Amino acid sequence: MNYHVLTLFPEMVEQGCNTSIIGRAVEKGLISLEAVNIRDYTENKHNKVDDYPYGGGAGMVMQAQPVYDAYQSIASRLEKKPRVIYMTPQGRVFSQSVAEELAGEEDLIFLCGHYEGIDERVLEEIVTDEVSIGDYVLTGGELPAMVMIDAISRLVPGVLNNADSAEYESFHDNLLEHPQYSRPEVWRDKAVPPILLSGHHANVEAWRREQSLIRTAKRRPDLLETADLSEKERLFVEKNLAKGREI
Ligand code: SAM
Repeated sequence: MNYHVLTLFPEMVEQGCNTSIIGRAVEKGLISLEAVNIRDYTENKHNKVDDYPYGGGAGMVMQAQPVYDAYQSIASRLEKKPRVIYMTPQGRVFSQSVAEELAGEEDLIFLCGHYEGIDERVLEEIVTDEVSIGDYVLTGGELPAMVMIDAISRLVPGVLNNADSAEYESFHDNLLEHPQYSRPEVWRDKAVPPILLSGHHANVEAWRREQSLIRTAKRRPDLLETADLSEKERLFVEKNLAKGREI
């Protein structure tokens, strides 16, 4: 997976992605990341990349020319036209399933806006996807792009040590993950659920799956509507975990 980030703050993206699991994945060559400074492509003699909005109003708008030329500097090197994701609070909301969909791409370009956003004409010209990380407004698209890069990279084979961990995590199958425990067995008079110490793999898995159902029903019942459940599990949910019932 090769990420290309169009940004006014390349150092923010580079620093944000060079630590921990993502940093190691870059070092191992499992993913690559380049942050392209949009300002390097401006034709303005004062190095400006923004101007006042036509029609008036508050703030500044990033201009089309430097964004387009920065994009071309990447696209002209690639064999296939890549997906270009504009980070915007107006886009479809990012989720694990969007991460799964994008993890199959070879190259992804992220376009990070600032100020009041970017001239609509260049968005029409180059953007294939508009994605938001939630219903709130941030100052720039760098943090949203990093959120997406982190979530997508975890799905790239080899990035996580244990291939199972991404598969059994929250939102896979549209369920929240079961609770986790580690040593010691008793902490502040709270004991680890005995089944986890039983060494009986099948029973542990059954307990975890049930906890997953209970947790999802309590915290995110909306997810259950489209969750991947067996007939038995669906009945369990309907009988025991229906809205308003004690669990
Ligand atoms: N005026 C824009 C609007 O109302 O839609 C908001 C602009 S925002 C201050 C500046 C930039 O931050 C946006 O162009 C976008 O790249 C990024 N941004 C802000 N909130 C975001 C969110 N929730 N998801 C993704 N990107 C966001």
